[in-house]
Amino acid sequence: MKRIAIIHTGGTFAMQADEAGHLSPGDYSIDYVQNALPKLFDAILVQTRLFNLDSSFFRPDHWVAMAEEISCSYDEYDGFVLVHGTDSMAYTACALSFFLKNLGKPVVLTGSQLPLIAKRSDAFGNLVSAVEVALYSGCNEVVVQFANTVYRGNRVKKKDAWDFDAFYSPNYRNLAKLGITMERFVERYLPMPQKPFSLDTRHDPAVHLAPIFPGYDYITLTSAVESGRIRGLVIEAYGSGNVPSDDPGLARLFAAAAERAIPIIVCSQSPIGKVDLGLYKAASDAAYYGLVSAVDMTREATIVKLMAALGRSQKIEEIKAFMQTPIAGEMESGG
Ligand code: ASP
Repeated sequence: MKRIAIIHTGGTFAMQADEAGHLSPGDYSIDYVQNALPKLFDAILVQTRLFNLDSSFFRPDHWVAMAEEISCSYDEYDGFVLVHGTDSMAYTACALSFFLKNLGKPVVLTGSQLPLIAKRSDAFGNLVSAVEVALYSGCNEVVVQFANTVYRGNRVKKKDAWDFDAFYSPNYRNLAKLGITMERFVERYLPMPQKPFSLDTRHDPAVHLAPIFPGYDYITLTSAVESGRIRGLVIEAYGSGNVPSDDPGLARLFAAAAERAIPIIVCSQSPIGKVDLGLYKAASDAAYYGLVSAVDMTREATIVKLMAALGRSQKIEEIKAFMQTPIAGEMESGG
């Protein structure tokens, strides 16, 4: 019989309103889930509680703990389900996809927009679907299952704080759809790895994200770069990666980063499409500073991947090469 680990990390799923009416982590209704859930499946479901936190509290250390939890029991289970808050789920999904190397089993993140104990809650349904995906999807990657859709985890963004349909995947089509049956789009799955599973949680969180906007004064960020506190820079540029390369402040920022061998990765404020630094002269003029395109990665994937890149190497060319290579299906190749 298949074995699935259900790891609770928190989120609205198990929240309840406090006296002031604020939602905060309550009793993880493990009895409710423990009693009702197993009756639905011909499988062994083992539940643990790693954290019970609002996911806005998660830091990279929490990603490491989640990855270690999966890694240390990797051989005991056929799949893993993580119950997680929606706010930072996209970041965790990215981190797990980079930390869990050569994954040969599904790791399914899910959560809910309403607590389990609320009327019309989506919590139990989402969890049931996530277990279903862990058991029967046949995928071997980190995915997000939400509102009956299965997405590659490192491709998702939270799009809606109020609708049950909270996520979307702007640049990669969904991996499965749960209607009356589960429709699986296996041609979109990652291939089975040829090498054994391993854990690599190396990362450096000293990454900074700067959006470009008209009138932005780059001086504060340039000082931070000069101070040495920032080791990787993500520029959230316009559209296809365009930047105002005639702005002397921006040129000083890029020069300060380039002099210190700080990688500058360019993602886009437009979630759909990809960054092409050669499309407009404005962006190609800035190429002198060694800007790297994030291609079609989400902002979340770009940030977390850069942390992973900085943790794996201190050599600028190796960091750039890592950023330009698809690691876990987070980007199209040929960046
Ligand atoms: N604040 C919650 C969290 O991310 C939101 C949710 O779970 O939907 O933990």
